[in-house]
Amino acid sequence: MTAFDHALLQGELNRLGLPALSEEKMAQLENYAEFLVSFNSHTNLTAITDPEGIALLHFADSLSLFLSGHPAGGEKICDVGSGAGFPMIPVLIARPDLSVTMMDSTEKKVRFLNEALSRVGLSEAGHAVSCRAEVAGKDPSFREQFDLVTARAVSRLNKLAELCLPLVQVGGYFVAMKGKDGEEEAKEAAKGISLLGGEICEIKSFSLANGEKRTLVIIKKHRPTPAKYPRAYKQIAATPLS
Ligand code: SAM
Repeated sequence: MTAFDHALLQGELNRLGLPALSEEKMAQLENYAEFLVSFNSHTNLTAITDPEGIALLHFADSLSLFLSGHPAGGEKICDVGSGAGFPMIPVLIARPDLSVTMMDSTEKKVRFLNEALSRVGLSEAGHAVSCRAEVAGKDPSFREQFDLVTARAVSRLNKLAELCLPLVQVGGYFVAMKGKDGEEEAKEAAKGISLLGGEICEIKSFSLANGEKRTLVIIKKHRPTPAKYPRAYKQIAATPLS
């Protein structure tokens, strides 16, 4: 038995209009899924470990990022709150030409991510750092250094924008991978996004094969983020920009 349902993933990619994955890439995903399930047996990373769930809710969902049109190729990317590696490990397996920094505030997840990248032979294309995004946003080695910033399942967009947009360089993009409430979150966050130098340029909605709704909120950064952002997390959480 395989650690994830290969046919379900290829079928879902086809249904979403995304390219099929080669045998070699499927083998890398299998290696990653096996490591995820075994690591998860002693250190909690994810509640979804069944073969169908990994295929649909982790792998196909991660690769649905490409429906946003980003990344297009060669970008320097930061993924905020990478957790067990979604969306970026599947994205990097699909497109190893990217350069990815995976950021997470939890040290044990960062250790897992770097080990997973090494197992699938992608340590040169990606690495994980243990850091809070609002701290990285003040650090010149991260602030406005990325062509593309992504985040899946980290926080509501009105808070997430302040964590992510300071990391995007002017002319770059932030893509938030949201669920069924994505449009509502985008409306709520629009003013704050503008204060941070960005503008929502597109919202893409679709459903996964099991009927769950997904929303990709695509934000372009037009102006530098004012120096006072990001604020400390307590302030971001207590008074999200609006
Ligand atoms: N993106 C993954 C996914 O979709 O499966 C993980 C989602 S998990 C619910 C949220 C992750 O964000 C956790 O691993 C947590 O440690 C991390 N996180 C939360 N706040 C953060 C912050 N301010 N900076 C960096 N990482 C953060």
